[in-house]
Amino acid sequence: MSLVPCPECGADISDRAVLCPHCGLAIRGAYWCWDYRSPRTLWGLPLVHICMGPAIDPTTGSIRVAKGIVAVGPIALGVLSMGGVAIGGLTFGGLALGLVALGGMAFGLGLAIGGLAVGAIALGGGAVGYLAIGGGAFGVHALGGNHPHPELAARIRAFFGGG
Ligand SMILES: [Zn+2]
Repeated sequence: MSLVPCPECGADISDRAVLCPHCGLAIRGAYWCWDYRSPRTLWGLPLVHICMGPAIDPTTGSIRVAKGIVAVGPIALGVLSMGGVAIGGLTFGGLALGLVALGGMAFGLGLAIGGLAVGAIALGGGAVGYLAIGGGAFGVHALGGNHPHPELAARIRAFFGGG
């Protein structure tokens, strides 16, 4: 527990306060916010960190990030992460960045599946990858509305260092 300034009167209040004891401002209830960290940790991170509610904490103005082995939140960083913006190993999100990424916009070092997918293997509405499958597919091996693009294919080939 730590003290944060009340957004209304500026008095120091607990970051867990539901109501400012000085001016009566409702801190919680104005928005739905839930934060859970499992007591168990691995590599200094909670096994599970779930952060629900807005990405920016209106009481502190700070960005709320879920960080854990399994992370769920507006912004999630984890081995397995799910969120508006998800970064990690296996990621699911509006914007997903990871080894395996699934999302509206998915960027995966390995596999990317999404509206726009960029990855070694990319599947999506717009797919860019070594192996790309999609409505618009650009890659060394591309299956889609578009034909393989030789120049782009050479760049992707060089990026992944393969042939
Ligand atoms: Zn107050």
